[in-house]
Amino acid sequence: MTYSVFSIIREGLTGNRGWKPVWREPEPKAEYDVVIIGGGGHGLATAWYLARNHGITNVAVVEKGYLGSGNIGRNTTIIRSNYLLPGNEPFYEHSLKLWEGLEQDINYNAMVSQRGVLNLCHSDAQRDAFARRGNAMLMAGADAELLDRDGVRKLCPFLNFDDERFPITGGLLQRRGGTVRHDAVAWGYARAADGHGVDLIQNCEVTGIRREGGRVVGVETTRGYIGAKKVAMAAAGRAGQVAAMAGLRLPIESHVLQAFVSEGLKPVVPGVVTFGAGHFYVSQSDKGGLVFGGDIDGYNSYAQRGALPVVQDVCEGAMAIMPMLGRAKLLRSWGGIMDMSMDGTPIIDKTPVDGLYLNCGWCYGGFKATPASGWCYAHLIATGEPHEYAREMRLDRFERGYAIDEKGVGAQPNLH
Ligand SMILES: Cc1cc2nc3c(=O)[nH]c(=O)nc-3n(C[C@H](O)[C@H](O)[C@H](O)COP(=O)(O)OP(=O)(O)OC[C@H]3O[C@@H](n4cnc5c(N)ncnc54)[C@H](O)[C@@H]3O)c2cc1C
Repeated sequence: MTYSVFSIIREGLTGNRGWKPVWREPEPKAEYDVVIIGGGGHGLATAWYLARNHGITNVAVVEKGYLGSGNIGRNTTIIRSNYLLPGNEPFYEHSLKLWEGLEQDINYNAMVSQRGVLNLCHSDAQRDAFARRGNAMLMAGADAELLDRDGVRKLCPFLNFDDERFPITGGLLQRRGGTVRHDAVAWGYARAADGHGVDLIQNCEVTGIRREGGRVVGVETTRGYIGAKKVAMAAAGRAGQVAAMAGLRLPIESHVLQAFVSEGLKPVVPGVVTFGAGHFYVSQSDKGGLVFGGDIDGYNSYAQRGALPVVQDVCEGAMAIMPMLGRAKLLRSWGGIMDMSMDGTPIIDKTPVDGLYLNCGWCYGGFKATPASGWCYAHLIATGEPHEYAREMRLDRFERGYAIDEKGVGAQPNLH
């Protein structure tokens, strides 16, 4: 069924009895051309682009919980393409362009809102670095504006401009950045893929990856064995565990990342604002809650909840640039499992096992990457060749010494 204003009016006038379930609940088939492990944003987007761009529809997405139960439904919804390095920026700009047409593409309201992303700077050196980043963005076809202090004040008069330690000296603004309703992205891609015949199999955990003669032949699951000509891993925080089922050890650490939401307030924060002297960022949801977060918890974990030291650290960042936040009541906090790569850049690649593909290492930034990740991963699976925008995101880059270290901090996941 196509969603439109006419379907809403028709259903409104007929007691809303015509809405259909958004996707089917199929039993797994004996074999598929492609089995995707993980029904998060990246797995579902990959299924959709396999069907839409390459006509490959004999596909199953196998999810151990319910669709969207992982990070796709836990993130702080920010999209942007304000990257510096050539291995990253064209990929994220491609993603932002796909976000701009996504709702028409999949016929689903994902509440894409380009309300702007503003990175604050607090020193001359940081402003110079932002100017360089902004120029790299412009050269890749993205938008970027360098604001002085007055420019920032016009946008966000509520910020603490004269903090003793971290005075605000300006900011880098990407007006096309913003927010998207995260779980609607999962539902929208799921519905669109299902519409092309992709089987979405929930409550089905992959427990083993079966190989014969160096080639993948299928997956063992809690609902039985499923044969597959190709298997594509998209398990995000569980990437290391799933890859281990095929005997692979990844350059990935799993950490918990927390997020927070306040009680609903009148509109105050116009877009996304990030602190440049610590790890804190904030936006306001359409319901009015201030949505904010900061750094990962500094220890390896598969828990979807974090510890108090990070809560304190995030609140200190908040109070430094936005002291009025101290008056708001905190409503909820939660966590998700982050697949932190050793250079802060993702991996989209084949593996040494024939027919087995890898998509992981999304760190904090995998939500904004969802469309481009699905697009490029589907391209790789369908053609066997890397997509031009993901060519540098190879697994062997660490071995070859070609890390894409966006922040220049080395192999320290907590700093990426
Ligand atoms: C608190 C928080 C805030 C964030 N904020 C942002 C942000 O503002 N902007 C941004 O760009 N990114 C953000 N991120 C990062 C982003 O959410 C992730 O990088 C991205 O969602 C990961 O990809 P995914 O959606 O496919 O992951 P997931 O949704 O986690 O999908 C992976 C799926 O694999 C399934 N799975 C795992 N093991 C198995 C198995 N053995 N068998 C079957 N299924 C399995 C899991 O259940 C899960 O559903 C944030 C993350 C968190 C936690």
